[in-house]
Parts: sequence; C-alpha cells; structure tokens
Amino acid sequence: MSVAEARRWVIVGAGPAGLLAARRLARAGHDVTVLESEDRVGGRVSRIDVDGLELDAGAESFATRGGHVATLVRELGLGERIVAPEPRPAWVVTPDDAYPLPRTGWLGIPTASLARDVRRAIGWRGALRAAGDRLAPVRDVGPQTSLGELARDRLGDAAADRLVAPVVQGIYSRPLDDITLADVAPGLAEEIRAKGGLVRAATARRAAAPAGAAVQGLVGGIATLTDALAADARAAGARILTESPVGAVERRGTGWRVWSEGTQHDVDDLVLAVPRPIVAALVPDVAWAEDRQVALVTLVLDAPELDGAPRGTGVLAAGFESGAKALTHATAKWRWLADAAEGRQVVRLSYGIDTARDARPHALADASALLGVTLRESQLRDIARVQWHDSAPAAVADRDPVPGLHLVGSAAGLSGLAAIVADDARSTLGA
Ligand SMILES: Cc1cc2nc3c(=O)[nH]c(=O)nc-3n(C[C@H](O)[C@H](O)[C@H](O)COP(=O)(O)OP(=O)(O)OC[C@H]3O[C@@H](n4cnc5c(N)ncnc54)[C@H](O)[C@@H]3O)c2cc1C
Repeated sequence: MSVAEARRWVIVGAGPAGLLAARRLARAGHDVTVLESEDRVGGRVSRIDVDGLELDAGAESFATRGGHVATLVRELGLGERIVAPEPRPAWVVTPDDAYPLPRTGWLGIPTASLARDVRRAIGWRGALRAAGDRLAPVRDVGPQTSLGELARDRLGDAAADRLVAPVVQGIYSRPLDDITLADVAPGLAEEIRAKGGLVRAATARRAAAPAGAAVQGLVGGIATLTDALAADARAAGARILTESPVGAVERRGTGWRVWSEGTQHDVDDLVLAVPRPIVAALVPDVAWAEDRQVALVTLVLDAPELDGAPRGTGVLAAGFESGAKALTHATAKWRWLADAAEGRQVVRLSYGIDTARDARPHALADASALLGVTLRESQLRDIARVQWHDSAPAAVADRDPVPGLHLVGSAAGLSGLAAIVADDARSTLGA
C-alpha cells in the first residue's frame, strides 16, 4: 500500500475481534491504535489467576466448524498446543434427576432415537415417540416456527423437555419456546421440510460437521491465542494501549474524534470491537442492545471424590433456584489443566447475572448438587467471580452504519471465536 492510501484508525476494544482487526489493518500498512479499557488484552478470551493457576476467565474452547480458528492458531505458531477435550459426555441435572446427554445428537435432538443413552434419558416410551418423527409428514414449517412447539409436536414432550430444552438453554441462554428455527440456523426450516423431519435434519447437520471433537482447546488456555494475536499485531506496527477506556466518540468532518482518559485521538476510521451495550452507549443512533449479563464463578477445590469425573466434562443445569445454568468440570475436560492443577479440581459455574450477586455460598452448594457429591467449605481453596456481557447478541444488518465506522466481533452480532475468526478471514476492512 502506498503512503497516500494509509489511513489512521482507532479500534476500541482488544478482545479477539479488535486484535484481529488491528493485525489485519497494521499488516496492510495503516496507522493503528487499539484502546482497551482493562489492564490486559483478550476481552472475554483472557486469563484469571485462581489459587495460583492461570485459568481462562471466559471462553475456554473454540468450535472446530470451518477450521478457521485452527488455521489461525497454526499461523501464530501455536499449532502444537491444540487439544481435544477428554471424551466424556456432558450431563443434564435437574433438582431431582441426573442423566448423561446422548452421544449422538444435534442440538439435543437424538439422531439415534432408540439408543441406550436416549432410553436412559427419556425412557422407552419417550424414545419411541421421538423415533416417530421419521414417519410423520412435515407440515407448516417456516423460519419463524418455534423450535419448542415443533420439537414437542414431532419428538414428544420427554425429548423436547429433557434433551432439546437443556441444550438450547445452554447455547442461547433462552428457553426453548423463545427460539425460532431462524435463530438456530438460516435454512434450517427448509432442511426440515426437504429431509422430512427433525431427526433427519439433525442427522444431516451432524454428518456435515467436521470429524472429531466439535470443540478444541489450547494447552495453557485459550487466552494463549489472544496473547499471541496481540504480539503479532504489535509486531506489524499496531499500538495497543491498555487502561485506556473510551468514553465518547464524535463524527468530525469525514473522520472521528475519540476520547479516552482526557486524550483525544483524531482518526479517519473507527472500529468498534466492544460488546453491543457499549456500542449502544458510544453511538446511540446506530445500535441498541438489551444488556444481558452472565457471571462465571471458578472454584479450585481439594476434592479427590471428583477424580472419577462423576458428571463427565460438565453439566447443563435445569430448574435450579440459585440460577445456576451450567457447570464445567474443567480438570475432567482438559488433560493439560489436570496436569497443571496437580491433584486440585477446577470447576466453573455460570449464572444469569441477577442470580449471582453473592456467588460464594451458592457456588459450593450448586457445585455439590450438580456434581452429585457433598463439597465442604474446607475443601474450597479459592474462588473467583467474573461478570460478562452476554455471549449471544443478535446479528446486525449493517456492519458499516455510518461512513468511517465499522463494527466487528460481538459489536456486529457475532458470537464465539469460530464465527469471529471466520469473519476476519473474509474481511475487506482497510483494503
Ligand atoms: C463466560 C463466557 C464463556 C464463553 N465461552 C466461549 C467459548 O468457550 N468459546 C467461544 O468461542 N466463545 C466463548 N464465549 C464468547 C466469546 O468470548 C465472545 O464471542 C468473544 O470474546 C467476543 O469477542 P469480541 O472481541 O467481540 O468482544 P470481547 O471479547 O468482549 O472484547 C471486547 C473488549 O472491549 C473492551 N472494552 C469494553 N468497553 C470498552 C471501552 N469503553 N473502551 C475500551 N475498551 C473497551 C473490553 O474490556 C474487552 O477487552 C464466551 C463468552 C462468555 C461471556
């Protein structure tokens, strides 16, 4: 690029999306400054120290679909760190029941409807009812059809409530009846019609997924990726300023003025790589977002009774008054972490924010209930609670809503590393 084409950019936010944009723009020869409010980079893909262990504070894995994250990881020289989770099932736990999720399914829809683990979860009667989906003609299914209604109608209440609902709640943080087919995937309604039912469509989706684990992690934690991205962006010439919260942005002529801690940055282009509620605060004309939040509570325990991984890699929780939504038994899921923890157990619990204000007493009781063991206060070595903006924002129609303003990552409605990295791979930002 010639000097005349190089432009001045500010990127607000040094999470994965901001760092990817910084790396892309700096490599293309632009003048790039990243402003990050925290004292570290990574956003929801960053670290936390609990009991002397360096743990992921938010995201802890990436979806393998599309292969883009693995390609990026290799580009950054971290390929040898890629690992699959331990091959253990996830469980569903309600206040009066616990069962492993069937191994073969998609979105909780059982694809081998009569398999032993399906029967264990929903009984013979429920399994036969779900198998009936293959025989029933498909009528009136469209993008706005409720997944809840359709699943109850075609698979029966047992499969809908005990298999599909917990998985959907875990992924979308919303009840099954609030999710339409369009929310799950564009084209899903058509596929259900064309294939002739939910089970067949789920089977096709599963077959189209890459072989092997649906998610992978990195030895040392997924934050290793954002650390490496920041180093790469800096090496390409980007300035990354931490402890630099952006308080306001203003359109000035054809460019932007950005204020951070009393300093003003005048630039040609502005990239917002922050959660949607922050976009809404900075440019209220452009975006609006409900500020749903989640809390993640990490416990480090001395609990040899968990050595046998009684609930596999973790639990989807349903119906707990405390608001606990899910539990990951991190040391049962990641071999490298079990090695690093040297006999300690690491457990992560997630909560809707209104229920997690006083995490400590809830967390130990919830971990006990969800893992099916009694954990005592004396076994708790350390506990940390982090609050995050919701991980599943709605997609935005216009990524460049005003000249010189660009939305990336969660600001653009993308959720998860796989979607964000794939989006960057297609990006023409700064070209
Ligand atoms: C608990 C939890 C677990 C998750 N687990 C996974 C997982 O396992 N796998 C996966 O793929 N995805 C996971 N996600 C989703 C994933 O973390 C997000 O999709 C991703 O981090 C979004 O990246 P981003 O760069 O758009 O935003 P963020 O990661 O949120 O980064 C935004 C950055 O902007 C900064 N910022 C905010 N306001 C300002 C301001 N005013 N000025 C300057 N800087 C500001 C923030 O400090 C932050 O560093 C999880 C999310 C959560 C909350």
